[in-house]
Amino acid sequence: MSEVEAVQIIAESLKEQGVEYVFGIIGIPVIELSMAFQVAGLKYIGMRNEQSACYAAQAIGFLTGKPAVCLVVSGPGLLHVTGGMANAQVNCWPLLVIGGSTSQDHGEGIGGFQEYPQVEMSRPYCKYAARPPTASLIPLHVEKAVRYATYGRPGVSYLDFPGNLLQSRVQQDKIYKTLPHPVAPLVYPAHDDVIRAANLLRTAKRPLVIIGKGAAYAHAENILRHFIENTNLPFLPTPMGKGVVSDTAPQCVSSARSLALQKADVVLLLGARLNWILHFGKPPRYSADVKFIQVDICPEELHNSVQASIAIQSDIKPFAEQIFEQMNAVNFELPNDNPWWEELADKCKRNREQVRSMALQTASPLNYYTVFHHLRELIPRDAIIVSEGANTMDIGRTMLFNILPRHRLDAGTFGTMGVGPGFAIAAALYCRDRYPGKRVICVEGDSAFGFSGMELETMVRYKLPITIVIVNNNGIYGGFDQEAFDAIRNSGDLSQVTPPSALGVQVRYEEMMKMFGLSGYFCKEIPELQAALKDAQKLSDKPTIINVAINPSSDRKPQTFNWLTESKL
Ligand code: ADP
Ligand code: MG
Repeated sequence: MSEVEAVQIIAESLKEQGVEYVFGIIGIPVIELSMAFQVAGLKYIGMRNEQSACYAAQAIGFLTGKPAVCLVVSGPGLLHVTGGMANAQVNCWPLLVIGGSTSQDHGEGIGGFQEYPQVEMSRPYCKYAARPPTASLIPLHVEKAVRYATYGRPGVSYLDFPGNLLQSRVQQDKIYKTLPHPVAPLVYPAHDDVIRAANLLRTAKRPLVIIGKGAAYAHAENILRHFIENTNLPFLPTPMGKGVVSDTAPQCVSSARSLALQKADVVLLLGARLNWILHFGKPPRYSADVKFIQVDICPEELHNSVQASIAIQSDIKPFAEQIFEQMNAVNFELPNDNPWWEELADKCKRNREQVRSMALQTASPLNYYTVFHHLRELIPRDAIIVSEGANTMDIGRTMLFNILPRHRLDAGTFGTMGVGPGFAIAAALYCRDRYPGKRVICVEGDSAFGFSGMELETMVRYKLPITIVIVNNNGIYGGFDQEAFDAIRNSGDLSQVTPPSALGVQVRYEEMMKMFGLSGYFCKEIPELQAALKDAQKLSDKPTIINVAINPSSDRKPQTFNWLTESKL
């Protein structure tokens, strides 16, 4: 009877359950496992930092609906991905982390190499965390881990493999037999609830639809586009709900976000939580008597923060199909000359004009709005946009359009910095394998880029044509120009006088391309930025960096409410 290696069983089980990509950093005890992945036909991407590997894997989860694997070594390797695991779990994205661990027969309990209670440690970040007790049971645990990550509200699974288990073999006929798990069952809404929801929406004076990343994950775009177009209901996308219905649709009221939230009397909430991103659904950001129709796949989420008037456990797609039918049956359409639409349209127009005047100020040093305005003009409209930073991400979200779903990846619900390069790598692989020619633009603040900048080498090694645009304001939130920076720092001990927000002045990040015999771009003027962007888009097998120096005190336009109100900054 032939024997099979445990590493081969893991690799083949993953393949059987539909896993396609593995991102990781190898070392003892997972070296052979990484090679077994490649032998089994999985795509293995070696990264430079475990966190980034984890970010890349979870972006694949969001983009494809199938978890990718993040492979790490024992102890510190796994500890380094907890940030990534938490990020995926908080964003409700599927992910499977696989960690090697100390051999049970050679160190466990007595201070073995990199020994750490890995399963226990992972549990708070996971839907499922386990250590298969024998090699023969590996397929059972892999099937369960992938199923848990994708069924219901998506999330994280962790599987732990001690060195001795990884080195073991089992007889072929002892291996537990599994089948590929069926696609997750669709959760349908209760019909009566859909009718009540349609009635409430129809009779609302100031209705609003909020489209969240749950709707993006649900692939509900086609039906939601019909629904919005036919009903002419105003909608607001959340940051990663952008593009489910195009930002350029006439019903998109992102330019009047505060007003729309504040005055709506009925809000249809589709796959978005009433957390900080949506200001908890409470006054003063919403009217005190606003009624929520909440639709979510996760029943425990219903009524969080605010009690919903109608709470519906459903996948967004079947819900959208049914409510569309209800509204369409009576030819419901909110007319453009309705007072609510007039108020929203007027506010949108005024805000757009204000932004436009800032966007047209092309004098150097540049401001955010000018940079984003020109970026928007020059990047392909179907590009995947990855973005992180403070102002860079916040202003970029309002200025850069998404016309397609799942085409924006950013710091997300957890507000995690350092996600950009990993997300961009995942997005570039996804484009390479499924939509050749589609571009990935990674728009980074200078501080944000610093967290995971070394992944540039990964992008070069795997020939990924990612355009990294660094909007460089010399600091976190804002920095200083050379004169001010020098003056402050001449006044005492550097650790006492250097403002915590300050980073180096006009650091030449684009010179990192020289490490690979390549070149990047440094831009201070709009024509330079335009030329760089045109050039960058010709690259098909390498990344590049466009480093845009902006005014270190450039800021957001004045806001009625700050996104986060706790900080005095
Ligand atoms: P956003 O960041 O866009 O506000 P959140 O991450 O807060 O979105 O919320 C997304 C919600 O979508 C979660 O509560 C999650 O349970 C839900 N969700 C995920 N997938 C689906 C789906 N297929 N159908 C319905 N809801 C979903
Ligand atoms: Mg900055």
